Amino acid sequence: MERIGFIGLGAMGRPMARNLLRGTGAQMIVYDMNPDAVAALVAEGATAAGSIAEVAANADIIVTMLPDSPDVEAVVLGPGGLAESAGAEMLVMDMSTIDPSVTDLLSKALGERGHGFVDAPVGRTVTFAEQGKSLFMVGASSNDFGRVKPLLEAMGNTIHHCGAPGAGIRTKLVNNYIAIVMNQVNAEALALIQHFGLALQPTLDVVNGTTATNGHLVTNYPSKVLKGDLDPGFRVKLADKDLNLALDAARTADIPMFLGHAARECYGLARASGHAETDWTVLVDLACARAGLKPPRL
Ligand code: NAD
Repeated sequence: MERIGFIGLGAMGRPMARNLLRGTGAQMIVYDMNPDAVAALVAEGATAAGSIAEVAANADIIVTMLPDSPDVEAVVLGPGGLAESAGAEMLVMDMSTIDPSVTDLLSKALGERGHGFVDAPVGRTVTFAEQGKSLFMVGASSNDFGRVKPLLEAMGNTIHHCGAPGAGIRTKLVNNYIAIVMNQVNAEALALIQHFGLALQPTLDVVNGTTATNGHLVTNYPSKVLKGDLDPGFRVKLADKDLNLALDAARTADIPMFLGHAARECYGLARASGHAETDWTVLVDLACARAGLKPPRL
């Protein structure tokens, strides 16, 4: 059994690492800048690393689940990073959502040193991660895909091998573009429901029975904003980051993204009004507040 390293034990990384530990029974060493996050995994049987180099020295497959591109680049290629201290067989599986050009850079730099690299960003929300029901979009060579498959099976129930390294993160940006823009469309529609004074559940029942339905309305909203829970599962700041990654990629290819740019202003407004760290479903409450309407609650 290959030894596992896990770096980044936040909202997503923590439940993923826990399921990995339980599901594989493998030896696991973990690292996060936040000592409380490390302690939570140690209580489950993982070993704490004092540095990234210590993870590199004690693991064969290392998972990274970090906020943004600079974080992943620093952890993998920066001073004291994984590439400096890696054993010959090291494979890095980055599961964060980052700029595809950084994914390509990591893949190339590790490949040149003889290490493996897989991009396997994660679909679905924290609730699914906790239940081991995440979806993964994987960019990997066939050989590396074989090495990481048992790990993915321990953390989720849906695995898509999208192609070579880089294909996973690009699939993720397409997926998140739709989900992040749709979040604002829903927020505006729910403000209209409030304005019309409609009963919320019957109206949602109608919408969920037609082509208007989408994942937010079926799973995400009922478990978050519609019950008044805005504790961060997926933070506004991260949704804004993903939207900008998609818009930047589109701009370089001269693809107009009209709705994405409109949605970006809404995420910008949310950040500017102090909601960068709030759950992304807060857009619903903000759309209602702007119109002087009460937030919708089930
Ligand atoms: P988070 O901010 O909750 O967790 C990130 C963790 O990384 C934190 O514990 C932080 O302390 C740690 N960290 C940051 N820099 C570090 C470093 N240099 N070394 C060690 N630890 C470091 O973020 P999250 O919600 O878990 O998201 C992680 C990634 O997954 C992001 O790229 C996000 O876009 C993506 N994602 C999130 C969700 C979601 O619903 N939250 C779903 C799918 C994908």
